[in-house]
Parts: sequence; C-alpha cells; structure tokens
Amino acid sequence: MLIKDGIIVEIGDAAGRLANEELNAEECLVLPGFVNPHLHLDKALLGERINREITGHNESTSLASSVTPLAAAAAGAALVDEGLELAYKLKPNFTVSDVRERAVRVLREAVRYGTTAMRAFADVGTIGGLVPVEGLLRAREEMKDMIDLQIGAFPEEGLICDPGAEELLEEAMKMGADVVAGLPGFELTDADGRLHVDFCFDLAKRYARPLHLFIDPSEDPNSRNLEYLAVKILREGGHEGRVTVSWDALAAYNDVYATKIIALAKAAGINFVSTPPVALIFYGRVSRIQELLSAGVNIACGQDCVNDTYYPFGKPDQLEVAFFMSHVAKLKHVPDDLYTVIDMITVNAAKVLELQEYGCEVGCRADLVVLDAQSVHEALRIRSERRAVIKSGRLVAESRVETTLFG
Ligand SMILES: [Zn+2]
Repeated sequence: MLIKDGIIVEIGDAAGRLANEELNAEECLVLPGFVNPHLHLDKALLGERINREITGHNESTSLASSVTPLAAAAAGAALVDEGLELAYKLKPNFTVSDVRERAVRVLREAVRYGTTAMRAFADVGTIGGLVPVEGLLRAREEMKDMIDLQIGAFPEEGLICDPGAEELLEEAMKMGADVVAGLPGFELTDADGRLHVDFCFDLAKRYARPLHLFIDPSEDPNSRNLEYLAVKILREGGHEGRVTVSWDALAAYNDVYATKIIALAKAAGINFVSTPPVALIFYGRVSRIQELLSAGVNIACGQDCVNDTYYPFGKPDQLEVAFFMSHVAKLKHVPDDLYTVIDMITVNAAKVLELQEYGCEVGCRADLVVLDAQSVHEALRIRSERRAVIKSGRLVAESRVETTLFG
C-alpha cells in the first residue's frame, strides 16, 4: 500500500519502490481506522472521583442546588437515575481544563486501540453550562493530528424541563460543536418529548449539522419518540441521512409495532448506533439488531461510557465493542456475520459521522489500523494487538506484546 500526502495512492506489489518511510505489515490484517460514533467524553473517568468527592451516595441524597424542581422531578423519574444523580453532583465542579484532561487521556487510549475518528458528546444544561463543550473543543484541538473528533452538544437534563437549556444548546453550536444531540425521552410528558425533538431537529437544520438523538433510553414499550421522529423526517424532509438515533426502545416494543417502526426508520434514512457494553449492563439486551440488519438499516456500534457515573468499565476499544455486539446480536457465522460486526465499527460508523474518503481503497484517506491477525475472525477472537495506527498517512501509535512460554 503506497501512501502519499495522507492518501492511499496504490495497492499492490510495491517491491522495488522507494518510500521515505516503510512499515512492514507482513502477515497482518489492515483495516480502515475504527470509528466510535457514541462516547460521553466529558464524563469519562469520573469513576475515579466518585468515592473521593461524594460520600454516602447510596443514602438519601439531595441534588445539586442549582437544579430546578422540574429538572429534579425528571431526574427522579428517569430510569437511569443513580448514574444521572451522580453526574448532577459532579458536574457543577467541572472545569474546562479538567474536562479537557480527562478527554485527552481517553482519546489517547482510543488511538492506541486503533480509533481514528469519534463522535463524542458534551453535556449542555443549566447545571454545567457550556464548560463540557469548551473542554472538548480544547481536547479536539490538542488531538487533531491523531484523531478526528466530532462534538455533539447534548442536553442531558432535558430542554423543556430545563429552562435555559435551549439557548445554551444553540450557543454550543455557535462555539463550534459539530452535532445537535438530544434526549426527548427524558422530558416529563410525551408532548414535551415531541417539543424536544422539534427543537433539536430545527436547530440541526438551521446550522446544517447532523442530529443525534438518544431517543427513548428506557424499556418503556409505550415510548413513541422514534415514531414521531421518523414521520417528521418523512413529512418535512430536508435532513436525509443526517439523523442518527441511539438508545431506541425497539426491543421493548411488541413485534408488530417494532416492524412498523423499523420500516419507518428505514424509509426516513435514520442511522442507528447501539452501545452493547452499557446496554447490557442496564437492560441485558440491545436493540433489534437482526431485524434492523434485515431491513437494510445502517447500524453502527460504539463504546458509550468509559468509567463514568453510569458504567464502571469501558475500554475505548472498538474491537471489544464489536466483540460484545457479536454476542448480544448472535452474529457468529464465519465470515459473513463477523464482517458485519466489523462494518459496525468501520464503514457503518463512518457513515454516521459523514466521513469522506473513508476506507482501505485507492483514493481514501490513509487512516488505518494494522492488526496482528491473519483474519477478521482471529482479530475478533483474541482482540488482536494493534501493531500500528496510522492517521492521515502518519504513524500515530505502535504496540508490541511479547510473551515467552517456558515449557
Ligand atoms: Zn450515551
């Protein structure tokens, strides 16, 4: 593979050709750089300070004093309330440099495991203001030669139930956030959820940015925000292919209704992002992956959390995420199912991020990961070492593991 000015210019027998730099990838598997379409970088590694900054959090607790009664009621009603409550408490103490520092640590680890592009979310709301967005903007700048970072402005405390958050969300877009994110299922009523979808959709269109909604993060079979979103896209149009959902409630719906919603989502061109490690620990299952695949819907998968208030684990390793996905979605047939899960962390995720010139072909940008594996099967089976990671033609990480067995 010959790379010039960061672009793959030739693939084939390069014997006898001269290059300024050479990387021997003999007997290795070369894939396009991994893409993580969903990670809360602003809250990453908060697990390190939960015990230090919060004592007795399992006893009766009061939320941060800055939270309005409406927001407190919404938090209390949310099914993920413990992680949320901890986040509420820690968020007022965030500083720009603290967010930046935690984000950079995780980004460097992600690069080491072969991720060359990521969509990360920064909370926006009246508790933490725009500090998380500012922190991620700085991390993006600091890491720009190693990883493409998209920042999604994410109203974690809702919009309708957090007066002032709408203005902050728009301000985040002006500051340089790349993606409008939303959480309509957090609102207190179905009508408010629809207003939340309306506001985010309109903001994304006005700023010509992708929309990424954490649509119905619950096991509530009555959640209807995905239906509303799909029909809205079909009726109003104008943002085709630029809308992604995570945390859908498809698995909780009955089969008839789920079939209808998948058909609507397909027609509306909605991308899906599933985050198997965190979904498993919350619900013991993920979305209806097999049905979405059968319908031809674009599905990617990501590592949602890295040691934050919601999830104590989380290695920013997309190969591990794909490994989880193959289990929970029962994708086990060699090689086709395994190619499918690799697509979820490469080409499908690249489509979510709207990456141009992505892939392992001539003319593509040389964002590559070199795995110490002979096949995709082997890479997934042992989550092979990432020998080298290349970003825009430049070597950005190299790893070696040496083991000696005595006997
Ligand atoms: Zn998430």
